[in-house]
Amino acid sequence: MAGGGPRSAVVIGGSMAGLLATRVLSDHFDKVTLVERDVRAEGPATRKGVPQGPHIHVLLDTGRRVLDKYFPDLFEQLQVQGAQFIDSSGDLAWHHFGVWKLRRASGIPGLLCTRPLLEWNVLRRVKARPNVELRDGCSIEGLLADATGSGRVTGVKVKTPQGEETWEADLVVDASGRGSRMPQWLEAIGYARPEEEQVIVDLSYTTCLHEPPPDFQREWKALFLYPSPPKAWRAGFISHVEGGRWLVTLNGYFGEHAPTEYAGFLEYARSLTRPDLYEYMKAARPLGPITQHKVKDCRWRHYEKLPRFPEGLVILGDAACAFNPLYGQGMSVAGLGAELLDTCLREQAERGGLAGLAQRFRERLPEAIRLPWLLGTGMDLLYPQAVGKRPFGLGLLHWYILRLMERTSTDAHVHRQFYRILHLHAGLGAVLQPSVALPVLSHGLKSLLRPLEQLANTETRPPPLTPPLPSPVPVQKSTG
Ligand SMILES: Cc1cc2nc3c(=O)[nH]c(=O)nc-3n(C[C@H](O)[C@H](O)[C@H](O)COP(=O)(O)OP(=O)(O)OC[C@H]3O[C@@H](n4cnc5c(N)ncnc54)[C@H](O)[C@@H]3O)c2cc1C
Repeated sequence: MAGGGPRSAVVIGGSMAGLLATRVLSDHFDKVTLVERDVRAEGPATRKGVPQGPHIHVLLDTGRRVLDKYFPDLFEQLQVQGAQFIDSSGDLAWHHFGVWKLRRASGIPGLLCTRPLLEWNVLRRVKARPNVELRDGCSIEGLLADATGSGRVTGVKVKTPQGEETWEADLVVDASGRGSRMPQWLEAIGYARPEEEQVIVDLSYTTCLHEPPPDFQREWKALFLYPSPPKAWRAGFISHVEGGRWLVTLNGYFGEHAPTEYAGFLEYARSLTRPDLYEYMKAARPLGPITQHKVKDCRWRHYEKLPRFPEGLVILGDAACAFNPLYGQGMSVAGLGAELLDTCLREQAERGGLAGLAQRFRERLPEAIRLPWLLGTGMDLLYPQAVGKRPFGLGLLHWYILRLMERTSTDAHVHRQFYRILHLHAGLGAVLQPSVALPVLSHGLKSLLRPLEQLANTETRPPPLTPPLPSPVPVQKSTG
């Protein structure tokens, strides 16, 4: 890019958003410094700065696509290390809203592995970039602003093991996650705090690794018992992960957290709307320990609405919008943010310089956030206990969502369109088009007259695969 002189960027936070942003920036800047508060182990490990690490992580296909684009050998290597790709519909037994979803080959791959294994493999690849410097054990404490009052961020204040320092940079990227202190930092250099949209859910994740029973029949590779709002707010998941283990996670909304001693943990599994997960757990062997993490809310900071915003600053990942993790969107939206940064930087190259980048990026980021935010909060607000702004017409939308979900248990076309939205391949139009809306509305009318058991798959066992899946699921190589 034109502009003259070596150019540097600093990224705050070395988790998924920060790693992806660093990878992208390394194509555009002479030097990229990735600052991480934790000192990371040589190998996959949980760590303090990513407390969600021990818990189940689902990678939507949009996130897979972005990771594959920037790290072309990543998934091949993950599979060598024990991760596996499944068909994200056919290999998944998924109970939601009182029905089992159809199990049909979707052609959409789903990745099963632990979060630390995924993050470590991404980190290794970022570390290998020649113009990337990793500074673990350092914490960013604020922003430097141009003393001439030109409205530009010019660097960061850093706490290093040696003491406090200031580092200059042409671009600062905040990827410091849910706990980002950017509103305070902006205020300290003379800007307003952003408006925040929030839905309070008081959700907990409680997780324990298990050794599967030796006689497990492999009826599924992942079992999801989602809660059924508004009546039930406990959930449970089993996912096969590397090392031939099961990752078992139990969730509760509104402060109903699973106990962290095993007898209570097992009993909580028994209280789910279906007995399946409890029965599988009873036959398995806990490998311990049990870890818990609590998520108070989902929160979108609307930086795009600020009347003034400095040049030289980009905010992405959970620092911009932290979703309800139950819908598995965070890593994918972090990926979309990094991809948008790449696009904006390529456009800047034609303009010659970085002027206007920060404004363009913040104005466009909501395009990546809006749909997943609507999907997640739309579900959460089905609960009367969820605290958040309820938009006009929400009641009607909820009636439609419930009928749509029931219909995913019997109608292959509706099921396919739902999966396209879920993986962020399509917008809301996919489930509002006549070929979906008509069967859903007809199902809705019938359900007023007949019990659900006659209209949807409410079988007591996870449904079998129909038809059997081609195996293994191919990893589609992106061409971009
Ligand atoms: C329980 C739980 C389960 C989840 N499950 C899923 C899932 O199934 N699928 C999915 O896609 N997403 C899931 N997510 C979300 C996902 O983990 C995040 O969206 C993803 O990690 C991207 O977040 P991030 O990189 O923006 O921030 P984070 O992952 O929160 O990382 C922030 C990083 O910044 C560092 N940091 C913070 N402050 C500073 C500072 N001042 N200086 C230097 N470093 C700093 C931290 O140490 C940390 O490494 C889940 C989240 C939770 C809480």
